[in-house]
Amino acid sequence: MPRLDDLKLNNLNWSKTKTEVDPEFFKRLENQQSPEYLWIGCSDSRVPANEIVGLDPGELFVHRNVANLAPPQDANYLSVLQFAVDVLKVKHVMVVGHYGCGGVAAAIDGQRRGLVDHWLHPIREVHAEHRAELDAIEGDRPKLDRLCELNVIRQVRNVASDVFVQDAWARGQKLAVHGWVYSLSNGLVTDLGVTINSLEGYQEALDG
Ligand code: ZN
Repeated sequence: MPRLDDLKLNNLNWSKTKTEVDPEFFKRLENQQSPEYLWIGCSDSRVPANEIVGLDPGELFVHRNVANLAPPQDANYLSVLQFAVDVLKVKHVMVVGHYGCGGVAAAIDGQRRGLVDHWLHPIREVHAEHRAELDAIEGDRPKLDRLCELNVIRQVRNVASDVFVQDAWARGQKLAVHGWVYSLSNGLVTDLGVTINSLEGYQEALDG
């Protein structure tokens, strides 16, 4: 049984450093969190949400799963989304995919893996819908990377179509849903420019 001593020591040092820089840091966080952002990202260990955007504990509400999906029937995702929108009143939701996503690749490589094949089903739908565009792209990697983008765009639409989000817009709450893709090769995030921030914007995204 590993004792994980290194990790515990790291934790001790981290807590000490935080407290030295800001003695009230943990006391403040203990009493409340008021993040303005909800991050819906991939579980991939190379895409650490807070670190990428330079935010401290308390500043980013996070939901991660394989291939950064926002499935309308997933109680875990929905619970996070409702809490973020209705209780925390976050101002921004970002769906953050990443190029070279193993989850996205696994969705379409034809191999059987079990339960995850069902989880990845929405990506196969996106793939089927954009078959012509994807087939026209030369090379497996550029094809995969475009599918990663298309998946993000679809998940942004899923979030925007959710009743919690639509009700928030209907009552005048400020809320924007963004689609980003992170590059493992240089650590940079690209905004896909598919932000939806109103009921009208959602309708336009559907029509477009
Ligand atoms: Zn991934």
